[in-house]
Amino acid sequence: MNELGRKPQFERHDAWPSSDTVRAWVDAQGADLDALMSSAAALRDEGHGTLISYSRNVFIPLTQLCRDVCHYCTFAETPSDEKPAFLTPDEVLAMAREAAAAGCTEALFTLGDKPELRYRRARQELAELGHETTISYLAEIAEMVTRETGLLAHVNPGVVDNEDIQQLRRVSVSQGLMLESSAERLCQRGGPHFGSPDKIPARRLETLRLYGVNKVPTTSGLLIGIGETRLERIEALRALRDLHQRYGHIQEIIIQNFKPKPGTRMADAQAPALEELLWTIAVARLMFGPEMNIQAPPNLVAGDRARIIDAGINDWGGVSPVTHDFVNPEAPWPEVQALAEQTAAAGKTLVERLAAYPAYVTDAEIWVDESVAGRALAASDASGWARSEVWFAGARNDVPSELIPQAAPTDGIETILLKASAGKLLETDEIVTLLEARGGDVHHICQRANALRANTVGDEITYVINRNINYTNICTYHCKFCAFSKGKRHEDLTEKPYNRGIDEVVAMAAEAVERGATEVCLQGGIHPDYTGETYLAYAQAIHEALPDLHIHGFSPLEVRHGAETLGLSIPAFLERLQQAGLRSLPGTAAEILDDEVRAVICPDKLTSAEWLEVIEAAHNLGMPTTATIMFGHVERPVHVARHLTRIRDLQMRTGGFTEFVPLPFVHMEAPIALKNRARKGPTYRESLLMHAVARIVLHPHITNIQTSWVKMGLDGATACLQAGCNDLGGVLMNESISRAAGANHGQEFRADDMQALIRSIGRAPKQRRTDYQEPAAN
Ligand code: SF4
Repeated sequence: MNELGRKPQFERHDAWPSSDTVRAWVDAQGADLDALMSSAAALRDEGHGTLISYSRNVFIPLTQLCRDVCHYCTFAETPSDEKPAFLTPDEVLAMAREAAAAGCTEALFTLGDKPELRYRRARQELAELGHETTISYLAEIAEMVTRETGLLAHVNPGVVDNEDIQQLRRVSVSQGLMLESSAERLCQRGGPHFGSPDKIPARRLETLRLYGVNKVPTTSGLLIGIGETRLERIEALRALRDLHQRYGHIQEIIIQNFKPKPGTRMADAQAPALEELLWTIAVARLMFGPEMNIQAPPNLVAGDRARIIDAGINDWGGVSPVTHDFVNPEAPWPEVQALAEQTAAAGKTLVERLAAYPAYVTDAEIWVDESVAGRALAASDASGWARSEVWFAGARNDVPSELIPQAAPTDGIETILLKASAGKLLETDEIVTLLEARGGDVHHICQRANALRANTVGDEITYVINRNINYTNICTYHCKFCAFSKGKRHEDLTEKPYNRGIDEVVAMAAEAVERGATEVCLQGGIHPDYTGETYLAYAQAIHEALPDLHIHGFSPLEVRHGAETLGLSIPAFLERLQQAGLRSLPGTAAEILDDEVRAVICPDKLTSAEWLEVIEAAHNLGMPTTATIMFGHVERPVHVARHLTRIRDLQMRTGGFTEFVPLPFVHMEAPIALKNRARKGPTYRESLLMHAVARIVLHPHITNIQTSWVKMGLDGATACLQAGCNDLGGVLMNESISRAAGANHGQEFRADDMQALIRSIGRAPKQRRTDYQEPAAN
């Protein structure tokens, strides 16, 4: 149904549409074309919401020699003494480096089809380059570009066989072949494809089939206006749709309009009317449905981009800030900023994607060879889009302020926010929608979270004077994100293994008290010699020496380890810790409370249920705990949403959480990130949203949302304090876990500096105890 509640006149057809429908499509003009487009646009919105994507790329024409002679083409050249047949590795690398410096993520290799079969010159140059075929040279160059620059390769190698595809799959994240048309007659004498053996539709469809067999994210599409009829376009789309229904591999359908070019045999041919392009886009959308990515190159529709969006596209394709379109050199790429503004004027948000679309990046195990999958992961955000920013948690970098443009919220977001404001519990899919918000919606969610914060806890921003004491960094566990733990024999690592012992820990606690601390936070690795008695001894010694000091310590993993080593139940061991002086537990070791994620990042650690069991047992004993989430590594928004609902559900049973603390993953020294098995931490947008969405989802059950200055940095933490947070955490004195992972925001944030920061945004600083009471009452 459209927004008027009427059934669209033109519906999507999963089966081959009836002859009546096809006739109606073919005849659609004027108002009927408008109706076709509006049905297509509604379908697009169903699958893609407000997002229109593009890829920031560099166009690398590895060779412009081609054995085909398409009558409209100026890309293909003949051998010349003036110009080598192939770009050299150095030339390509220079282009790729310039592109990487300009923020590109994709190396688009477009080249002529098997020139070595036609030109001796191509064979000679390939031999000098150490290759027999263009494909094998392409494979070498694509691998080099990704290795040296991190750009992800998309290759358009022409008609290829199984072996070629497999070779290229190892060095690229996607491959492409335009079907152009399935009309055989266009290959006959007088047709645009006469004399071009690789343009025989059956050959191209066979290559596209092999892409499916080999699980290659594949781009394809039509070139319209080269003499084909509307019916023939429908048939070509059907051929592509049949392949996609079989293999699920076509990631994008490009609808490209022919542009006559001087010097070609079709120089005087008429370019297709805009209506033909709109019609084809709309029919493609109706045939492929909501999810398919349908693209029209923006440089070929310069004055008509709003109409193109109206017809049902959701992608603008590649836009290069460093190279022109070698296939359509007369048509310059738009500036990304201008494209973003035009897209926004049509009510959409421009989002940067990688050379593989999110559905394939997030399912990379199936779709991307492991030799490049890690690169794709590292270049992506939690939803599989391009990371597209240089802000990293824990690093000293400027926050990307342009991420939050002022705009009205979209309807779907507003509905969810109203539901949350009315005190209703949000479902997992609604939380995912909030976490995936972009553009103006991000700003709106942050504002709403900020208002909730103001209504719930007022304008004070709290902090605690505390000291982190990590008594040992020796650990028997193998958490793949952890740069803090050291095996006993890792003497060569920058930070030496240590085990402080009781006297040193008590002395550190006493020193903290002298400096005004009301809390010590005790945490460490799981040292092989530690038993439950060790933890009891630490708590007891500190408590005896400093009875007024709040001992906040022992993660659920340590509690579980302690209980197991003493043969005690969790509640029994917690009770003994409580008797020894422990007052509350940090809700660390939670990472992501979803065993799918834990199996990847911390397979030998306690499970989600075990973490929740320890926390619930503590709450039942009257011991409060915090709750944390470490995000930005391999999890997806759905995992974050599940984590939030698990925390919320437990809080509704026990009321024992004092605060929720989002901890953005610091990737710089984290082993899993160094091996390209994780993302490079959350983006700034994701980090900001994590705090804001936590406020909204946990409201009113958890009233304190903390931001970690260690990981967000001061500017990032300040932004979080204006997006739902009301707590700045502790001064820490000896933060070392994030520092080990590469964070460089310091080990201590002095109380007077914290107060200055809080006042700088017009809020009132307030020192608190661990339990959020006044310090004087401690
Ligand atoms: Fe050990 Fe904790 Fe590091 Fe895991 S995160 S390896 S349990 S110190």
